[in-house]
Amino acid sequence: MISTTHDIRQQFPFIVEHKNAIYFDNAATTQKPQIVLESIQNYYKRVNSNIHRGVHSFSIQATEQYEEARNTIAKFINASKPSEIVFTSGTTHSINLLAECLFNTYFHENDEIILSVLEHHSNILPWQNRGKKNKVKLQFATINENFQIDVQHLKSLVNEKTKLIAISHVSNTLGSINNIEEIILFAHTYGIPVLIDAAQSIAHLPIDVQKLDVDFLVFSGHKIYAPTGIGLLYAKEKYHEYMVPLSSGGGTIIDVDLYNTQFANVPLRLEAGTPNIEGVIGLKAAIDFINKNGGIHQFYLWEEELRKYLYQQLNENFSDLIIYTTPQTPSVSVISFNVKNEHPYDVGTLLNNYGIAVRTGHHCTQPLMKYLKIQGTIRVSLAVYNTFEEIDKFIIALNKSIKMLS
Ligand code: PLP
Repeated sequence: MISTTHDIRQQFPFIVEHKNAIYFDNAATTQKPQIVLESIQNYYKRVNSNIHRGVHSFSIQATEQYEEARNTIAKFINASKPSEIVFTSGTTHSINLLAECLFNTYFHENDEIILSVLEHHSNILPWQNRGKKNKVKLQFATINENFQIDVQHLKSLVNEKTKLIAISHVSNTLGSINNIEEIILFAHTYGIPVLIDAAQSIAHLPIDVQKLDVDFLVFSGHKIYAPTGIGLLYAKEKYHEYMVPLSSGGGTIIDVDLYNTQFANVPLRLEAGTPNIEGVIGLKAAIDFINKNGGIHQFYLWEEELRKYLYQQLNENFSDLIIYTTPQTPSVSVISFNVKNEHPYDVGTLLNNYGIAVRTGHHCTQPLMKYLKIQGTIRVSLAVYNTFEEIDKFIIALNKSIKMLS
């Protein structure tokens, strides 16, 4: 069972510090629990040393902690081997790293990649940039009436030139959960690998990469109560042969002479230089925090109650909102909306005056904004420490803000 909300809130120094603030911008980044902050401080106080290189006990301890974190994270997403986990600085870095690898070793001229119109820019630009240079074409699946990727449309785009499908598990703008199970199953009948951008699902939904049979999966630590600057690329072992080092140097090798290098296997050959050791340790602590507090499914159940309540309150109390979800849409705790005839920035600015942090704008999904023919939205995104009382206060503040604007 999940601890009470009060207990959970007490574990977040930011929440305790800002008693009167309401933080509803969790899709952008989450707050960090005390155990994460302490894990970083403890590491620097007691262990601080470089990894994989020393024979002295501090270096050995640091290496052990780093690799133990890899094991914990592998277990968290049920990777079959820790070596399938490559540490990166976050989702954006992971997708860029994968794109560079695949464009160097896997794609050929006239190949095609399928994305969707609701992708975050981080899952469009790396494919767009290299795709143009290498004459690899992008295809985009549209969305259905429930604001999810339209699976039928996506299937209709698949042909013998399709070499990768790269889509998000959950839309960062709309919160809708995509039917990735069906998409992966379909892709594999044609031998096409699938990349899942799990940046917005990792903090809300249990993820089992073996059950999903997904080929690549990426996320950022800071979206799941861990520090910024750490993330990962999960890559099924089968694809490691395509993962050649781009950024090479210390830590990536088995043997070097002046003219030739024998590289280490994945993951080390992709983790060049001194890595973000404190970030890796902080990410492990964040996963420990989730496990100690009931596990991610318990978080989801609480957040789902909150989301349903928020949706009902928005629906019942306002006649001038356009809400970008439906009661049928499977969703995580994110709701995007607009107030008719008002700019989202104006609403967001007024809410800020009431101490409420929401995100406004295009949310790094300009193609989706263009598809929906809007400039932006007001996005409320909830986490495990949010409460019904906060939603009530938000509804009152939104009401006042709308009155003020009209
Ligand atoms: N993909 C999705 C779906 C996201 O929501 C985000 C961040 O909001 C990213 C990618 C990029 O994540 P990061 O900025 O941590 O690299």
